[in-house]
Amino acid sequence: MIDVHAHFAEEGYEFPAEWEKIEAAGVGTVILAADTLAHAKWHAEFAKTHNGCYFTVGVHPEFAGRPFSEEEFFALAAEPKCVAVGEIGLDYHYPGIDKEAQRKLFAAQLVLADRAGLPVQVHSRDACADTLALLREHRALLSRGFLMHCYSYGAENLSAFSELGAYFSFGGVVCFKNARRVAESAEACPLGRMLTETDSPYLSPFRGEKNSPANIPVILQKLAAVKNLSAEETERAVSENAARLFPKLKL
Ligand SMILES: [Zn+2]
Repeated sequence: MIDVHAHFAEEGYEFPAEWEKIEAAGVGTVILAADTLAHAKWHAEFAKTHNGCYFTVGVHPEFAGRPFSEEEFFALAAEPKCVAVGEIGLDYHYPGIDKEAQRKLFAAQLVLADRAGLPVQVHSRDACADTLALLREHRALLSRGFLMHCYSYGAENLSAFSELGAYFSFGGVVCFKNARRVAESAEACPLGRMLTETDSPYLSPFRGEKNSPANIPVILQKLAAVKNLSAEETERAVSENAARLFPKLKL
């Protein structure tokens, strides 16, 4: 099983116990998503000593306006276990943010991803229209595909993203009883574009708990139920999708 989006850097997990728990749960592949280059570096070091662990490089929209080193970005992107650029995108959730700075940072990193020859992990929150517009405008840079991580924009917007080559990952929220909209998206999502993630330490399927990639089996079960498939069929599809979108993974 695979978790395509989790955070370990400075999140207070206790290793090696946490990693042992993840392996014992049958989750053999974890992609650690960066929000800053410092965290990408932390993840890169961790991945070096953990089989099945990979990482991404990128700057989260929350850090828009702060300069970063392109040289360092490319050095990390070139590492064998760096499978994508991310998480990058737009987050309009909190008032007073600089939308223009976020759009600039997002577009600049799409250029870097294309130059690095890597797919992208997109973070998009309360910014559906602008995310779509920006991705459309830069579709020439999206030839390696991209992931809409923690997809939350409803079944009605799936096809607009999917026409641009999107994959969609679903996490713990799909297990919440009151998250009908996310379950409907998962139901409508083409099986060939569906992935599993936890966004650990956030969004545990068990409310109030610290999340872990060890919860992937719970999420996979729920997705299988929503798709009316067995857990094995769902897992096979997710693995094939992950291998297609992230060719640097060794599955
Ligand atoms: Zn994340």
